[in-house]
Amino acid sequence: MLSKAQNKLRLYREFINSSVHDSLRYNIHMPEQSIINLQNVSLTLGQRTILHDISLTINEGEFIAILGPNGAGKSTLLKLLLGLYKPTSGKITVLGKTPKRGNNEIGYAPQHRTLEADLALRARDVVGFGLDGNQWGIALPDKKRETHIEQALDEVDMKHLSDMPVGKLSGGEQQRLLIAQALLTHPKILLLDEPLSNLDITNAQAVVSLITKIAKNRKMTVLLVTHDVNLLLPVIDRVLYVANTHSAIGKSEDVITSEGLSKLYNSPVEVIKTKGRVFVIGEEH
Ligand code: ADP
Ligand code: MG
Repeated sequence: MLSKAQNKLRLYREFINSSVHDSLRYNIHMPEQSIINLQNVSLTLGQRTILHDISLTINEGEFIAILGPNGAGKSTLLKLLLGLYKPTSGKITVLGKTPKRGNNEIGYAPQHRTLEADLALRARDVVGFGLDGNQWGIALPDKKRETHIEQALDEVDMKHLSDMPVGKLSGGEQQRLLIAQALLTHPKILLLDEPLSNLDITNAQAVVSLITKIAKNRKMTVLLVTHDVNLLLPVIDRVLYVANTHSAIGKSEDVITSEGLSKLYNSPVEVIKTKGRVFVIGEEH
């Protein structure tokens, strides 16, 4: 049996220890944690080599813009991360595992997803697809399902439009729904394939702000494919450029240069920087 004084001392020691432990935990600079890793990855589809010998690492919490000309393999790269394609050679790990279809830790909004076919559906129904046994979704009990849908609608500022037929929604609002859908399983990684195309500048800006806010709140890693990096420059950590079967990753100012991109494309590309904006001349879109 410990005396009262001994007990007090023990509690005090425990308190000190845990405080020291906490201060160590918070003061030590944690090394960056890799969440996506590609090692010498190549992919051939049919006769064509789409990606060749790609190696890169993306760290937890990063916001990455994926850039490159049409047909370069940007969407294909996302599909590799989702396990929809297997690399012809090389190794991919996502969250420490080889990618496999139907991983709820990855939220995905595919490219060119048009909601026209679902005109009569309400906004909340479309968001619910993320939980209704499609290939990304999981089945949840009704109550939990409703809560998840409400929460996601709220996060993309669409709660007030949740009963609207989706056909009546603007492009920007539809895009928000697709993001809400991708959020439903509380993923750690969000893959967004051209969420800004077909949006005017105001809506695109609003969607960028929204994604940035949600990613921060949920501590998600985001990979976003886009044709125009300018709107994203203030919020991204790095860019991943895909062209000519190769890739380059780094800070935008290091990657998006005339010299760097000409080398990547293996043809002359000119980068013009003006008033904090960047334009790439000579790449086909
Ligand atoms: P991006 O998203 O950069 O525009 P994609 O990843 O969609 O490019 O496509 C890259 C290339 O891979 C394109 O030339 C496309 O035609 C080709 N491709 C995509 N999927 C297949 C497939 N299943 N079989 C053969 N070629 C494919
Ligand atoms: Mg694409």
